[in-house]
Parts: sequence; structure tokens; C-alpha cells
Amino acid sequence: MAPSPPSNGSQSETDVDTESDALHRRGLMYILSSPSGAGKTTISRMLLSADEEIKLSVSCTTRPPRPGEIEGVHYHFVSDSEFDAMIEEDDFYEWAHVFGFRYGTPKGRIRSALKDGQDFLFDIDWQGTQQLYQKDQQDVVRVFILPPSLDELQRRLMGRGTDSSEVIASRMERARAEISHWDGYDYVVINDDVGGCFAKVQQILAAERMKRQRQTGLIPFVRELML
Ligand code: ADP
Ligand code: 5GP
Repeated sequence: MAPSPPSNGSQSETDVDTESDALHRRGLMYILSSPSGAGKTTISRMLLSADEEIKLSVSCTTRPPRPGEIEGVHYHFVSDSEFDAMIEEDDFYEWAHVFGFRYGTPKGRIRSALKDGQDFLFDIDWQGTQQLYQKDQQDVVRVFILPPSLDELQRRLMGRGTDSSEVIASRMERARAEISHWDGYDYVVINDDVGGCFAKVQQILAAERMKRQRQTGLIPFVRELML
């Protein structure tokens, strides 16, 4: 748990714990979107293994698992009727149709965890991004990852080896529509070199965590400082 900010006026200036403000903060909802194949899964996985303060918001989907995908880790894989029931129960922050399947962000315990300073990573498309942003502007940070070119995007989709040529063609068709929403994001990062792209995604997250409005411990801290 985060230490408390200085709580009595007798502390000297050198006693002031300047780290405490970073620890007393509201969590954020960090959205990574991209046209399929541009690398958001790669970047998300790098971030999740490098940064213990952020965890993945696991979406529900009616799409079948790909080889290597694990229930509860990559997605909650649900049937159409289970998805219908969740809509009925108002269990989703947002949901959308993508490539013939449905995807949704379950509310779960996100709201209360944000208050406790937990950050969440969202790998969702622009429709989901818009809906999440409309519901919670103050907590959402939107990052769009672009491929260096459409040729390279196609090479990556083919190289990933998870989709048939028809699916790749439909992903390429959809890529142009996805890219047209680039200006609905706070940050745009080109994934040319994966290390460089990852570094930028980390830098954005670090700066966003330090934003004044997320520092819930700052008001008592400054009050104490001014005594
Ligand atoms: P998305 O989640 O956006 O659909 P992936 O992360 O699955 O994309 O990446 C698609 C493919 O491209 C994967 O095989 C991945 O290893 C590869 N890839 C990702 N980033 C780069 C990069 N900067 N340079 C070359 N290949 C990349
Ligand atoms: P994939 O099938 O490749 O895992 O994902 C296909 C698309 O669905 C991606 O663009 C991904 O960002 C999007 N997606 C995944 N989960 C969600 C979600 O919960 N909501 C929305 N709106 N899109 C999602």
C-alpha cells in the first residue's frame, strides 16, 4: 500500500517524502488501439511484463480462441447466449461487433480498483475507445499505434501466421477505416522499430501517471507544506 503523505506539521522540509505523491494517485485506463497487425498485442505484452502497476482488462469475446490463447488471460471466451445475457445484465462498459464476432469490456471491479491506484491496459478498437472515453474522460488515456506502411502491415499479418488469406484481406480492408480514426486519440505512435515504439508507450504512461489531476495526495501534501 502507498505510504501516507506527511500528517503532522512538525516534520522538517527534508522529511517530506516526495515519492508519496506518485503513490497517492488515481489509476488510469490506458487504451492501445491500432489496425489489426500493427503490433498492439506485442507492445501490450511487453508493457504488462515490464510494468507491475498496470494490468490487462480482459475482454469478453464470442470469437474462438487462437492457438496459445488462454481463457481468462487473453480473453474470456463466451458463447453468443452468454454474451447476450451480459448485455441484458448491463455488465459491459462498452461492446462492439468486430470481424463478425462480438467483443466487450466487462465492468468487473475496474471502477473501485481505479480509486485504489490500479492502472488498466485496454486493447480495444476505436468504437470501444469512443464509448469508454464518453463514460470516463478523466481516467482514459488513448494511444493509437500506426504501422510504418500498409505493405508492412500486410507482411506482419501474413508473418503472424494466425489468419487465412481471406481473413487477412478483410483485416487489410478494415485497416484503412481504423486508421481514419487516428485523430480521436491523445497520442499517435508509429511502430517501426518495436523497441522505440515500446519506449514511447512507456514514456507516455509515465508522464500521464504524474498528471496533477491524478495526484489525489497532492492537496493534503501542499496544505502541509504551506503550514
Ligand atoms: P496486433 O495485436 O495489432 O494485431 P501483433 O502484435 O499481433 O498485432 O503483431 C502482428 C505481427 O507483427 C506479429 O507477428 C508481431 O510479432 C509482428 N510485429 C509487431 N511489431 C513489429 C515491428 N515493430 N517490426 C516487425 N514486426 C512486428
Ligand atoms: P482480435 O480478434 O485480433 O483479438 O481482436 C480484434 C479487434 O477487437 C481488435 O481491434 C481489438 O482491439 C478489438 N477488441 C478486443 N477487445 C475489445 C473490447 O472489449 N471492445 C472493443 N470495442 N473492441 C475490442
